[in-house]
Amino acid sequence: MPIEQCSKCGTQGDPIEEALYMGKIEPLIKANVCRPCWVEWTNMRVMVINELRLNLGDPSGRDQLKQQMWTFLNLPKEE
Ligand SMILES: [Zn+2]
Repeated sequence: MPIEQCSKCGTQGDPIEEALYMGKIEPLIKANVCRPCWVEWTNMRVMVINELRLNLGDPSGRDQLKQQMWTFLNLPKEE
């Protein structure tokens, strides 16, 4: 079943079916983001990590990456 409307590209895209290991935000991502946009983000993520020199072993690094993802995918505000 396609997702209703992707928050990034605005289309009724193919859903993400694989596990993302994103914890509690995973359902939110899957409900809002189509698979092609997620793939786009996974490529973008590598560039973001390098560009901002994020240390993912550090909570603040992980937090910054999450912020970048939120903006990139245009996700709705977290409750
Ligand atoms: Zn999309």
